[in-house]
Amino acid sequence: MKIAVIGRGLWGAAAARHLALSGADVTLIGPSEPVDKTAHPGVFGSHYDEGRITRKNASDPYWARISIASIDRYAEIEAQSGIGFYTEAGAVLAGGADYMALVEASRAACDISCDMLDRAALAQRFAFFDFPDHFTGYHEVTRAGHISPRRLVEAQTKAAQNLGAKLLPETVDGINERPNTVEVITAHGRHSFDQVLVAAGYNTDRVLGRDAQLQVFARTIAFFEVPPAEALRLKSMPTLIYEAAEDPYLLPPIKYPDGKLYIKLGGDPDDVPLSSEKDVGDWFRSGGNRAVRDHQAGILRSLMPDLNFTSLSMGACVTSWTKDRRPEVARLSNRLSVCTGGNGAGAKCSDEIGRLGAALILEETGD
Ligand SMILES: Cc1cc2nc3c(=O)[nH]c(=O)nc-3n(C[C@H](O)[C@H](O)[C@H](O)COP(=O)(O)OP(=O)(O)OC[C@H]3O[C@@H](n4cnc5c(N)ncnc54)[C@H](O)[C@@H]3O)c2cc1C
Repeated sequence: MKIAVIGRGLWGAAAARHLALSGADVTLIGPSEPVDKTAHPGVFGSHYDEGRITRKNASDPYWARISIASIDRYAEIEAQSGIGFYTEAGAVLAGGADYMALVEASRAACDISCDMLDRAALAQRFAFFDFPDHFTGYHEVTRAGHISPRRLVEAQTKAAQNLGAKLLPETVDGINERPNTVEVITAHGRHSFDQVLVAAGYNTDRVLGRDAQLQVFARTIAFFEVPPAEALRLKSMPTLIYEAAEDPYLLPPIKYPDGKLYIKLGGDPDDVPLSSEKDVGDWFRSGGNRAVRDHQAGILRSLMPDLNFTSLSMGACVTSWTKDRRPEVARLSNRLSVCTGGNGAGAKCSDEIGRLGAALILEETGD
């Protein structure tokens, strides 16, 4: 039984590891991160970064449960691959009464332990944040913080390979489902598989050749370079998500491949949809929207008025949304399955989503 997973991103690489763990004959297909994004003519991914928030709490218990299941396996993935990707910096969710009531419902449903902080406790614990007076917050001190999505993909891929998976670092141009096989076409050849799981992120509909199901939105991320002394001052800074119109999220100083330390803030004032392949490619190649970056700089200046940053830069990414705001992990036919739709929140919980995708195939093959 030959199985292909198309898409070497957070979900596809996780699915490949779980399939390899079960002893299946699995090939993970997908290109590496482009070296020069501004000139790259091909496909992109939403994991080309060093920081994604990981936390157990969520406003929907579904996401809390799959995050908890994934976080519980971070150490296993690190051990199987020899690649570290997780930093236990802690995570804070903060907001007004209605916002925190939603979080509390999910927290209680999943019995998540965290410190509950009133306005005074928030100010005392995180003197570097200037929250509105009506805010309270939850601080997850353990099993929360940030992961490097780039290194997590690397770790899942390496672990899968260590368990016997094959890697085909190519872009898929099309798939043909036939009665006894699925043909996967890349620039370098045609490959036959018994089962195929498509986990190609924003590009999943195109790879499947189906009508658009996902809504894809442009996302700009602002990067604030901080000197080492400032990073030291902020050494207790957790990741943060808080109530505001832009749904801002913030990560503490993280070292990037250029050796510098950056605080990252995301959260767009508008949802700009991207529909064609060219729109998505042009967006990634553009490197982000300057007006959004400057707006985000204003948000950070209000939240952290004492922050000393030495440069401001930005990045472009996309989020892919399903209609029901839950991942699409589904069997489409006897031979084709799909695992997509991160809804802007699918990094932390990627291992469990990949496991669910793998389970679809294993149920079908009886393994
Ligand atoms: C700015 C930003 C911030 C985010 N912050 C967080 C966060 O803090 N916490 C969190 O949990 N989540 C976060 N997310 C969401 C998370 O990154 C995504 O949910 C996650 O990347 C989804 O994983 P995926 O495998 O579906 O897609 P991707 O990671 O995008 O992987 C898809 C893969 O498919 C490949 N592919 C595409 N087309 C083809 C093809 N034709 N042939 C072969 N391969 C193909 C691509 O090369 C890519 O590697 C954020 C997303 C963005 C954009």
